[in-house]
Amino acid sequence: MRKRRLLIALGIVVGLFAVCGGTMAATFAGLIPVMPTTELIGGAIGVADGYVQGFIVPIGNGQAALIDCGQDPEAKALKAKLSELRLEVKAIFVTHGHRDHVGGCKAFAGAEVFSSAAEKPLIEGEVAANGPITRFSKNDPATMPKVTRTLTDGEEVSLGDVKVKAFVIPGHTAGSTAYLALGTLFFGDAATGEASGKIRNAPWVFSDDTAQCRESVRAMAKKLSADEVKTLAFAHSGPLPSFEPLKSF
Ligand SMILES: [Zn+2]
Repeated sequence: MRKRRLLIALGIVVGLFAVCGGTMAATFAGLIPVMPTTELIGGAIGVADGYVQGFIVPIGNGQAALIDCGQDPEAKALKAKLSELRLEVKAIFVTHGHRDHVGGCKAFAGAEVFSSAAEKPLIEGEVAANGPITRFSKNDPATMPKVTRTLTDGEEVSLGDVKVKAFVIPGHTAGSTAYLALGTLFFGDAATGEASGKIRNAPWVFSDDTAQCRESVRAMAKKLSADEVKTLAFAHSGPLPSFEPLKSF
């Protein structure tokens, strides 16, 4: 009897691992791989921090903006690339508050931190997200950056030689935001790039509402053109070098 119970318990544990492993495999299968560094057309640079990327946007005069900051609290990979390029970070544009995107932001003291108003409480650790997995953990406020300025949908910020335009695209999280700078549209986790050349909607296990996410991304696509967007950049995959996959999403 005891042996049978033990076997059942073991079966449940193995089953749970299989479901989790299968979900993770399905989430990342078929994506364009993330490289340690990726130079994008237009001049932005992707820097991998494990399975997630932050992006450096040079703004002239030895300065840069970041799109997200990875998960490493010391932001070692981003800092190494910045020092190689002799760039100082003036501003951080946060796509959303999941920890793997904001864990490194505090390493850039003095930088202005931008997000949508709806995302600020998630970034700063006041609330948890609403996804099947993400609802179980909040950010630790002590290790999180403070958002210094919130942006509305369509708002544009001029930094040095570069304009950064925000698109608030709720769905992956309540205030997920994409940014357009240097001809690259940065999606955060609102989409990923497939090796097949298509873009894939945000994974449901880590998302508040994937149907809303898809609608938001489609609505954003209608406001943009191939003249403005040369590259699609994603946090968990390599980039797609054309506007076309977004247009046909
Ligand atoms: Zn995320």
